[in-house]
Parts: sequence; structure tokens; C-alpha cells
Amino acid sequence: MTFERHKMNERVVQDLKERSTIGIPFYILLSLIVVFAANLYERYLFFSIFFLLSMGGICLFRLIHLAISRKMGERYETLNKNIFFASVIITGLIWGVTYALIMPLKGEYVAQFLISLCVCGLCAGGVVAFIPNRCLSIFYNISMLMPATIIILMNGLNISLAVMIFLFSVYMVLIAYRGNREYWNALENEYLLEIKSQEMERLSNTDVLTSLYNRRYFDEAFDREWKRSGRNNSMLSVILLDIDHFKIINDTFGHQVGDKYLRKTAAILTSVFKRDYDIVARYGGEEFIVLLPGINADQASQLAEKVKKRIESMTIDHRGKKVGTTISAGIMCCVPNFNTSSDYIISCADQALYIAKKGGKNRVAVHIRQ
Ligand code: GH3
Ligand code: MG
Ligand code: MG
Repeated sequence: MTFERHKMNERVVQDLKERSTIGIPFYILLSLIVVFAANLYERYLFFSIFFLLSMGGICLFRLIHLAISRKMGERYETLNKNIFFASVIITGLIWGVTYALIMPLKGEYVAQFLISLCVCGLCAGGVVAFIPNRCLSIFYNISMLMPATIIILMNGLNISLAVMIFLFSVYMVLIAYRGNREYWNALENEYLLEIKSQEMERLSNTDVLTSLYNRRYFDEAFDREWKRSGRNNSMLSVILLDIDHFKIINDTFGHQVGDKYLRKTAAILTSVFKRDYDIVARYGGEEFIVLLPGINADQASQLAEKVKKRIESMTIDHRGKKVGTTISAGIMCCVPNFNTSSDYIISCADQALYIAKKGGKNRVAVHIRQ
């Protein structure tokens, strides 16, 4: 679950970055409108330049940081996250402080009206965009609205306006709380569904008794490997194994003992065939199949002999008795080509198994091409 948490947190930061990028062109456009629509720059040139430069600077910084952090991937993850959070808060503060500085200006009603509209609109948009992280959402809101509220109150300008801004801010905090809960619930459900569907897939590929892959999975994997080996012109070996006299174990000691024997056989198989790309599956009742990409007939034969020896010495205890039997194996190895079908290799392994059984069981036979 901690791994899922980590994945979810990564996803949240990604979501936040994507959501925040939408706002960047609007910050630039709206700051230009505030300065030029009411000709504020004519009366407060340095202030206007400072506002535009700081807004342009932080937007440029955020775009560059976004591009760099994308390239870095998971490296410096925490640092990048902190830089991103800090740059969002700085953007909010630039708007908030500018708002607070414009409000006391005498006669600048149009600029005051425009910046009120911009700050409230951008604040609402930002709070919703940053909902995945409640703290960021709330701090962004505070950084935008609180400086002006304090300045208006301190200068005794317009108390009802200050109250209105304050109430709007509280409303935004409530929206952030509610939205954050809904966002996380939806995210958790999405991940839970993913885990469940992975588990379902695993179960649909697994044999319940032995925990090996089942035949369905083997058939699919075999088809893929057949084509891949054909393309790469590389060897592919298949070993078909069948427990000898298994019916006697069942008939003498019961199915429970037979099941236990099957599980122990499966454990031996997985301990012998342990490369990542080896596929060991239960093919039928007491039959197993192993797919070995890149392994030639000699190597496959040595591995099958190893299994045979270990099964021979493997017993299970049942009411003081040692229950054991042997196993036979048939091997087929070839480089797949377009003239042969994937069924061909299995039928050849089956023929080899038949020869091993006919030859007295507890042996390994390799299919020889006629
Ligand atoms: P051979 O040496 O020729 O392979 O003979 P055998 O007795 O192993 O083969 P046979 O086909 O006659 O019998 C296989 C037995 O495997 C019959 C069946 O009851 C048993 N079997 C199949 N699936 C399971 C299972 O899941 N659990 C148990 N306990 N037995 C199973
Ligand atoms: Mg059989
Ligand atoms: Mg058998």
C-alpha cells in the first residue's frame, strides 16, 4: 500500500503541474490588462514595470522549471516539488501584494475594479486547480487575498469590501476542503480498481492448486514467444513433464496426498527453471510444461534430468509412510520458422514424452527430427 501511496503522490504532483500550466498565459494577459486598460503605467511607471517584470519573470521561471523537472523524471523529486509549490505561492503573493498596493491609490477606480476582478477570478481558478493539495490551495488563496484585506482594514478604506474579500477567502477554503476530499476519494478508487484488476488478471493466469501459471496463460505466452524467437532466429525449447504412476498415489493415499505431491512437484520445477523468461505452467492434471527461450536441446535435457533426479528423491510423509514416485519428460527444441506451427513443437514434445513413458518411465527423451 505504501508503494501505491507513493504512486498516488507522484500522480498528484503531476496533476498539479498540468493544472497549474493552464493559468500561466492568463497571469500574463491579465497583468497587462490591469496596467494598460486604465493607463496605470502613465501615473505609476516604476510600480507597473515592477509588477509586469515580476509576473513575467515568475511565469517564465515556472515554464522553464516545468520543462526541466519533466526531463529529470524521478530525480530530485522532492526538490522539484518544493520549487513548484514555492513558485505557485510566489505567483499568488505577487498578485496579492499588487492588489494590496493598488487598493489605497487615490482615484484609481478602474485599476482597482480590474485587479479585484482578476485576483478574485484567478484565486477561484487556482483554488480549484490546486485542489489535489489542500495546503497549496489554501496558501495560494491566502497569499492572493489576505494582503489586500489587511491593507484595506489598516487604512480604514472600505470595511465592507474587506469583509467581502475575507468571506470570499473563507468560501474558497471550504471549497478546497470539499474538493480535496472528493479528489482523493476518486483517486483512491481508481487505484483500488487498478489493484483489483491486476489481482483478477493474476488469478485468471494462475493454477489454484500449484500457484504455477495455468494453461490459458501458457498458450498466450507460448504464442508470443514463438513469434519472438522466430523473428530473432533463436532457439526455443519446450519440456513436457508427466508424473509417473500418479493414479496409484491418488488411489492408495487419497486425493489430498496427490494434491500435496503436485504442489511439491511444482515447487521443484520453479526452483530449477528460475530465469525471468522461463515459463513453468500446469498443463493438465499431473502434467507440466516448461517454455525455455534461448535454450538448446542439450541444455534443456540437462535441466530436465535435474528435475527428474530431484523428483526421484522427493517424498512426502503420510501417516508415517514416505510417498514418492518419478517423472518423465519429453523435449522439443527448434528455431521457430514460418513453415511450422506453434502446435508442432508441443506435439513433438508430446511424442518425446510418449517415448520416455514407453521406454520405462523416469526418463528424459528428446524429440529427434525424422
Ligand atoms: P503414467 O505413469 O502413465 O503417467 O500414469 P498416471 O497414473 O500418472 O496417469 P493417469 O493418466 O492414468 O492418471 C493421472 C491421474 O492424475 C488421474 C487423476 O485422478 C489424477 N489427477 C489429475 N488432476 C489431479 C488433481 O488436481 N489432483 C489430484 N490429486 N489428482 C489429479
Ligand atoms: Mg498424464
Ligand atoms: Mg502420469
